[in-house]
Amino acid sequence: MPDFRLLAEKIGEGKVLLDLADRVLYRYDAITSGEVPLAVVLPESTADVVEIMRFAAAAGTPVFPRGAASGLSGGSVPTEPGIVVSFTRMTGLELEPEKRLAVVGPGVVTLEVSRAAAPYGLYFPPDPASYRQSTIGGNLAENAGGPQCFKKGVTGDYVEQVEWVDAAGQVHVSGRRAYDLPGLLIGSEGTLGLITRAWLRLEPLPRYTRTLMADFDEVGQAAEAVSRAVAAGVVAAKLEFMDGACVRAVEEAFSFGLPAGTGALLLADTDGDDADVVAEELELLAEAARASGGRVRLAADAAEAERLWLARRSVSPALGRIKPFRMNEDIVVPRSRLAEVVREIRRLGDASGLPLVQFGHIGDGNLHPNILYDKQTPLEAVHELAEQIALTALRHEGVLSGEHGIGLTKKPFMKAAVPPEQLRNLDLVKRALDPSGLLNPGKIIPDEAKANI
Ligand SMILES: Cc1cc2nc3c(=O)[nH]c(=O)nc-3n(C[C@H](O)[C@H](O)[C@H](O)COP(=O)(O)OP(=O)(O)OC[C@H]3O[C@@H](n4cnc5c(N)ncnc54)[C@H](O)[C@@H]3O)c2cc1C
Repeated sequence: MPDFRLLAEKIGEGKVLLDLADRVLYRYDAITSGEVPLAVVLPESTADVVEIMRFAAAAGTPVFPRGAASGLSGGSVPTEPGIVVSFTRMTGLELEPEKRLAVVGPGVVTLEVSRAAAPYGLYFPPDPASYRQSTIGGNLAENAGGPQCFKKGVTGDYVEQVEWVDAAGQVHVSGRRAYDLPGLLIGSEGTLGLITRAWLRLEPLPRYTRTLMADFDEVGQAAEAVSRAVAAGVVAAKLEFMDGACVRAVEEAFSFGLPAGTGALLLADTDGDDADVVAEELELLAEAARASGGRVRLAADAAEAERLWLARRSVSPALGRIKPFRMNEDIVVPRSRLAEVVREIRRLGDASGLPLVQFGHIGDGNLHPNILYDKQTPLEAVHELAEQIALTALRHEGVLSGEHGIGLTKKPFMKAAVPPEQLRNLDLVKRALDPSGLLNPGKIIPDEAKANI
C-alpha cells in the first residue's frame, strides 16, 4: 500500500481522499462499476498531475483518469485497486476570440465552452447529449460525438493542441504536425496519457437554424428516410432518431408533447447563414421523410425546437425509470444499411424477450440499441443479446463504437472486430507510451491478444 501521506504533503491534504465512503463513490461510471480505489486525488494544476503520476510510477500503482464519469463503456472505472485521478477541479477556461480558440482545463464541462464563447458569436460544435455533465478531458479521451457532429465533425476535429502528462510524469505540449500526438491521445480512453489542457477551435454561430420532426409507423422507415436524404445530398446540421419505445418513455417521464403512439421519430436541424438555403435543405429532408412514409412537422419557433431537442437529450434519463440498468450499445453501420440493421436489431430484441430500445445519431450511422434490465434479469441473456448486436454491426461492415469507446463493455468483442495484427499494433503503441502498464490498465485490448514481446 503506497504511503499517500507523502503525496498529500506534496499536493495538499484536501486533494487526496482516503475515506472509504469517499472512495466507494469513484468506482462507478454511468454504466458499470469496478474496484474501490485505494485513493482518489483531485489535482488543481498540471504540476499536481505531474506529482501524482511520479508518485504512482514510483509505487507501481495504476492510475485511472476520470472526468464526470458520464462514460458508457466503463472507461473510468478502476479494474484493480489504484488511484482515481478526478480532473473536475481543473476548470481553467480562457478564450482567444480573435483566433477562435478556447484554452481549457480537462475538467471544464462541455457546454461551458459554448456558453463562454457565445458573447463573441462563437461556439464549440461537438455536443454529446451529456454536454451538461461531461468534461472536455472525457470528451477528448473518448473522441465524443453528438447530434451536431453529422455536419460539423467530432471532438477530435476541433483540437489544435494538447498538454498532457505521460506515464513517467513528464509534461508535453503536442501540436498536430509531424506525428500528430494529439491524434493518438484523442480516443485513447485514458490509456496513453493524462490530458491536462486542450486548445479547442471554435466556430462562428450559424445565423439561421430550422428544425423538423417526422414520425413513422416503424423504425425501418425512419432509417430509410435517412438513407434517402443522405443520397439526395442533404447536409443536415443534426439528424437524430428515437424509436417508439424511447418516445413513450420520454413522454411518460417528461410530457414534451411528442406523438406517443409513434413507431419512430426523426429529429433534424438545418443551419447556415443563408435563410433560403437553410429552408431548402429542410424541405429536402421533409421530402425524404414523406417518401419513406413519414408525417412531417416543422418547429414553429426556437422555443419549440429547443423543446424537441430537450426531448431527445432526455432519452437516457427516461429509460432509467423503466429499468435501473442498461447495456448501451454504440454501433456504427454504413448509412445504406441502416434500415436493414435497425429492423434486424428489433427482431433480435423481440426474440430475446428483453426490453430493447433504439435511438442515436442516425445521420452518422451511429445507433444506440439499449438493453434494459434489472436484478432479476439473467445477465447471460443480456450479454448474449449485446454480442448479437455487436456481431450484427460487424456483419454489415460496421464498427463496435462510434463515440462511447471500447473501455470494458466492448472489450469482449474486440477480437471479432479487429484483426490480430492490428490488436498487436495497439498494444505496441500502449507499451511504447506506458511501458509499466500504469495508465488505465485492463481496458480496450483483450489480454490474450497482447503482443508477446
Ligand atoms: C445521458 C448520456 C448521454 C450521452 N450522450 C453521448 C453522446 O451523445 N455522445 C457521446 O460521445 N457520448 C455520450 N455519452 C457518453 C459520455 O458522456 C461521453 O463518453 C463523455 O465524453 C465522457 O466524458 P466524462 O467527462 O464523463 O468522462 P469519464 O466518463 O469520466 O471518462 C471517460 C474516459 O475518459 C478518460 N479520461 C477522462 N478524463 C481524462 C483526462 N483528463 N485525461 C485522460 N483521460 C481522461 C477516462 O479514463 C475514461 O476512459 C452520454 C452519456 C450519458 C450518461
